[in-house]
Amino acid sequence: MAVSDHVDFPTFMEGVKKRNPGQDEFVQAVQEVAEDIFDFIADKEEYHAQQILRRIAEPDRVVSFRVCWEDDAGNIRVQRGWRVQNNNAIGPYKGGIRFHPSVTESVLKFLAFEQTFKNALTGLPMGGGKGGSNFNPKGKSVREIMRFCQSFMTELYRHIGADVDVPAGDIGVGGREIGFMFGQYKRITNEFTGVLTGKGLEWGGSLIRTEATGYGAVYFLANMLAAKGQDLTGKTAVISGSGNVATHAAEKIVQLGGKVLTLSDSGGFIHDPDGITQEKIDWVKAHKTHRRGRIEDYCDEFKGASFTAGKTPWGVPCDVALPCATQNELLGEDARTLVANGCIAVSEGANMPTNLEGVHHFKHAKIMFAPGKAANAGGVAVSGLEMSQNSERRSWKEEELQQMLKDIMAGIHKSCLTYGDQGGGYIDYVKGANIAGFKKVADAMLAFGVV
Ligand code: NDP
Repeated sequence: MAVSDHVDFPTFMEGVKKRNPGQDEFVQAVQEVAEDIFDFIADKEEYHAQQILRRIAEPDRVVSFRVCWEDDAGNIRVQRGWRVQNNNAIGPYKGGIRFHPSVTESVLKFLAFEQTFKNALTGLPMGGGKGGSNFNPKGKSVREIMRFCQSFMTELYRHIGADVDVPAGDIGVGGREIGFMFGQYKRITNEFTGVLTGKGLEWGGSLIRTEATGYGAVYFLANMLAAKGQDLTGKTAVISGSGNVATHAAEKIVQLGGKVLTLSDSGGFIHDPDGITQEKIDWVKAHKTHRRGRIEDYCDEFKGASFTAGKTPWGVPCDVALPCATQNELLGEDARTLVANGCIAVSEGANMPTNLEGVHHFKHAKIMFAPGKAANAGGVAVSGLEMSQNSERRSWKEEELQQMLKDIMAGIHKSCLTYGDQGGGYIDYVKGANIAGFKKVADAMLAFGVV
């Protein structure tokens, strides 16, 4: 007789917690998905017999390694590096690399888990992975960052490959760091392959990769609004973060006729009641990326704006909100405030920025709420297109890629409708995204048997 994993939800989650002690972010991510999957698979015996949910919540492997480097003063520094290869049922592992002092195995396991469903939703053949280090790039010289990236890649290179695992950027890893890591990979292996995405245009990168995550999150938002006969014209937007995702989300909101009121960083948020125009966004991009400055300096540059230290921007009344900084930055209380202030839609540019209580509140209030695995999939989608271009040894035109990104985001929106339509005009996008992503990966796993 087949062994079944017919256990109730609390028992399943108890098992996940027991097997992953102290890994709160990972447990949270599994719970958010399993809440929806449990109902979906209730009458599907094959998934139970093959223990698919249990298997999907266990990474294929977690590689952890030491990264030694020398700072400018000649001190030897020791960091920890990881690559979590979560699931390659539908394609090579794919997911970014994060350099931030808050990086732990739990954070990377949650990100790799989420990435697996997100990548499935894009419709492209990519499995899920994530990597990074607790290295803090803030305050480091360019040469220190280069030496760290080289040392990190000197270990990572043996675990990745164009058909094996293709990392990209994430928090703290932009085009410059990808360049240092690609240079070291090429030096060690003597191969020029599409082993990383987010590369420079001169050496195998794709147009619109930089913009894709933020733009995609706004396209997804526009799709949700369009389903209700609305658009972004004249809508006010509150955005957190001031990095790659946040600034490009702001840019696209402005292009589509909306008014952006806030941006933030780990020091606090700025509120500009006059609206953050393209000119102001360009200043933020240069200030945060090239000058590595703080968002509070915005108020010296643009009069009329105010800075609130140590707070997130969710108390500023708005029509739409886009959390684009980091995980668990929008809590239950913030969700209640946003809804009470009349916010009608939330599109997550960051990964898991809303905690479980916040997600439950948005669902309860039945506002349009797009989880990161759907809304921020534009970045990895264009990374997938970068992989295709590398394999073909050619570059596609910007207009072609813009259209592909729009089509992919519309396709993800449609997949969410398939499983998320609750009737009465309410779409549960969390449920829609979870089930659509899960089904694709689970069905591939069934095809492979017990491996
Ligand atoms: P960046 O490093 O470019 O920017 C991160 C921003 O978030 C900065 O403004 C940073 O502020 C802020 N931030 C980071 N950590 C914290 C924290 N603990 N508390 C408050 N603010 C914080 O990263 P990205 O824009 O690339 O990534 C942002 C989010 O989007 C992440 O969740 C990432 O996983 C997700 N994402 C990114 C993709 C991409 O293509 N880049 C793709 C899909 C998702 P400060 O400068 O003070 O550190």
